[in-house]
Amino acid sequence: MTNINFEDIRQQFPILTRQVYNKQLVYFDNAATTQKPQCVLDKTIEAYTQYNSNIHRGVHYLSQVATMAHEQARQDIADFIGAKDKKDIIFTRGTTEAINLVAFCFGETFIDEGDEIIVSAVEHHSNLVPWQMMCERKKAILRIIPLKDDCQLDLQAFENLLNERTKLVAVAHVSNVLGMVNPIETIISMAHKAGAKVLIDGAQSVAHTRVDVSQLDADFFAFSGHKIYGPTGIGILYGKENILNAMIPYQGGGEMIQHVEYQHTTYNELPYKFEAGTPDFIGSVGLSEALKFVRSIGIENIKQHETDLLVYALNQLNQIEGMKIIGQPTSGVISFNVGKIHPYDIGVLLDKQGVAVRTGHHCAEPLINLLGLPGTVRISFAIYNTKEEIDIMIKALKRAVAMLQ
Ligand code: PMP
Repeated sequence: MTNINFEDIRQQFPILTRQVYNKQLVYFDNAATTQKPQCVLDKTIEAYTQYNSNIHRGVHYLSQVATMAHEQARQDIADFIGAKDKKDIIFTRGTTEAINLVAFCFGETFIDEGDEIIVSAVEHHSNLVPWQMMCERKKAILRIIPLKDDCQLDLQAFENLLNERTKLVAVAHVSNVLGMVNPIETIISMAHKAGAKVLIDGAQSVAHTRVDVSQLDADFFAFSGHKIYGPTGIGILYGKENILNAMIPYQGGGEMIQHVEYQHTTYNELPYKFEAGTPDFIGSVGLSEALKFVRSIGIENIKQHETDLLVYALNQLNQIEGMKIIGQPTSGVISFNVGKIHPYDIGVLLDKQGVAVRTGHHCAEPLINLLGLPGTVRISFAIYNTKEEIDIMIKALKRAVAMLQ
């Protein structure tokens, strides 16, 4: 790893210095949302104080500056994920809206009764419910890639599910419960051989590993700004141009139109066809700044640091009696339970000691039920976390377990 000053990185996040219940905050809920570095906060303030103005339609100076900043952000995002063209980048509110957009527009354009969609057993509700809704609307069939005993996706079963009726496969790059990386390269190539398109839910991957959508040959890729040090309320849908062009629009309104008559409308070109209404032109520049922050550290360095933390944490967790790590985490997230203690009770007692973790089904209720669990305690890492924080968490966890057993 190149020489990185982690203390310097940490100091760029003002919230990390605060206390909760008179304890130093240890923030291990990064899979839910990441904290924001000062540069992203500054960029947002700069946008509001220097050029806040509605974009694309204004003849005046501020509007032109705002439009340029927003469109430059689109280019930066395209570059970050290896998209060939910035018009393949659609601004959404987040991963959830990006997937809903595809489920609706792809569904209405390409799905007929009896067609099949495949998702995996580990999906977040965001990459499950929109497909259920689409299948209900279109009388299509939803198939699920099962898990093997080791919590890996069963690719043999996936192969057997693929057939000429399979129109789309939607899978998470990284599971937000298991912290396991799905073999998306293999899944994409198997799906393409069967003639199906593929959507990758990158909500838990893009901040932790290099993503190149062109190299992956993904047809769609979705992620959220707030999980990669950017603002909340902005997310990205990448799509291949020919598929996006063929799809009907998502919502109607300003921006997405070319010409409007009382009874008829022609639609704008990409990407605007899918961006009805005033876009989040402050969020876009904030997200671009967040990606600049990530690039300045280097995604490979981030990955290495987080892997070090994960290995260190796993070693310590495994020394606690009754510890059950769920699955085989390798990326950013560890889910666990201790004996018969309810995960919520552990979460509350950790919180009282300043340690923020997440408990419950993590918006993946079918997976948690499949694993026969009441939920899990989930810790998740970001670039600013440290081994010292893991030590604090382990000490707090031991206290919690002692009190609850
Ligand atoms: N997919 C996965 C794998 C996630 O972890 C999340 C967020 N927890 C989402 C989708 C939804 O992201 P958002 O709420 O930002 O739309």
